[in-house]
Amino acid sequence: MTEKSPFKLNEKNNPIFITGPCSAETREQVLETAKSLKEQNTCTYFRSGIWKPRTRPNSFEGVGEVGLKWLKEVKETYQIPVACEVAMPSHVDLCLKYNIDLLWIGARTTASPFAMQEIANALKGQNIPILVKNPINAELSLWLGGIERIEKAGINQIGAIHRGFSGIEHGVYRNMPMWHVPMELKRLRPDISVICDPSHITGKRDLIAKIAQYAMDLNFDGLMIETHPTPQEALSDSAQQVTPEHLKTIVNDLIIKNESSHNKSYENQLEFLRAKIDRIDDEIIELIKSRGDISTQIGELKRDENVTIFQQGRMEELMRLRKERAKSQGVSTDLIENLFTHIHSDSVNIQAKVLEKESQASK
Ligand code: PEP
Ligand code: MN
Repeated sequence: MTEKSPFKLNEKNNPIFITGPCSAETREQVLETAKSLKEQNTCTYFRSGIWKPRTRPNSFEGVGEVGLKWLKEVKETYQIPVACEVAMPSHVDLCLKYNIDLLWIGARTTASPFAMQEIANALKGQNIPILVKNPINAELSLWLGGIERIEKAGINQIGAIHRGFSGIEHGVYRNMPMWHVPMELKRLRPDISVICDPSHITGKRDLIAKIAQYAMDLNFDGLMIETHPTPQEALSDSAQQVTPEHLKTIVNDLIIKNESSHNKSYENQLEFLRAKIDRIDDEIIELIKSRGDISTQIGELKRDENVTIFQQGRMEELMRLRKERAKSQGVSTDLIENLFTHIHSDSVNIQAKVLEKESQASK
């Protein structure tokens, strides 16, 4: 397990809020947003995109360097640290020149190890927090690799942002959350802060509160939420930006839970229930062992009869029956399908081993 680094973006039970517009559009828009966020205390870092990595050309591609001057003004006027997205070494150099406090790397950039390495090279010797958004595709190692490249450049204030993953089937979301991916990142890297970006996950302002709460329930360290004084007129990501007032409601309504509790009755009950789960898990393992022993016997039977190990029809029938049973018991059919795919493939392996032994014996 990785050592906890001293860097955590948030204090315990105190999520950070990275809020501000998707893009800096005008000086007035940037300062007006910052003023509202400051007044309502919903901004730990003020975010704004200056260079916008748009999926299609001819979309608004950001105001460029002048936006950094506006961010500097936000910092000086409202004493809020400011954050900006970087996608190339020249962006890093300019952000450092304007004393931007935190940089994040966007999803399209994380997907390219070449770009990540170039950014890492530009960051060598610097001391600035960097947040790495997940790559657009759900490949955890690409995300981890991006983080590691930045760390290797000597940056130790590093975190991650979960913004969901592109796919053909989006469902209601712009980017599928696939929560197991950031949860696995949290398991592998407990030493870094993981922030959730409900704006880019949902793509729709009305769904942000729900995803924000879910992220808090999963113990994320904070939220990145795009905020604009007049979202309908925003030049980028209009449908997912919220007004500062809307943001205030989202933040006020969040229920922040504790990671643990020292209440004795809670601890006793939890211990009791966990002991029950442990016993059930032991039984599951024992049952899997018994099932494996029967697979060995089936393997021997098929071997003696010169029959193939795998029968497609049996696999389909088995899956259909297990899913029917799961449904009648109120158990997730997806879970049962996944579980029995593994169990069945293990059974095939066991039977293959029976044959292997036979062919070795006959050599
Ligand atoms: C953004 O934060 O505005 C942005 C471009 O995000 P992403 O990289 O998640 O698309
Ligand atoms: Mn955006």
